Amino acid sequence: MRLEQSIDCPDCGTPIAIETRALMEGASFACGTCGAEISMAGRAGESWGAAQAKFAALKADMLKAGEGEA
Ligand SMILES: [Zn+2]
Repeated sequence: MRLEQSIDCPDCGTPIAIETRALMEGASFACGTCGAEISMAGRAGESWGAAQAKFAALKADMLKAGEGEA
């Protein structure tokens, strides 16, 4: 399984290349189109548990979307 994935930018929908492991380790990735940042840390005030649950759902979607791709 490749660790590199992409997430659609929540602001503009552009796919942002992310590395899952780096994201989980706290790295953030910026949208090349609008500059929005994607990170595991979540937004201020959001608990780690909530961010983690959201990421798990996101990851499931990514895995689903990634099926059939090399
Ligand atoms: Zn964007």
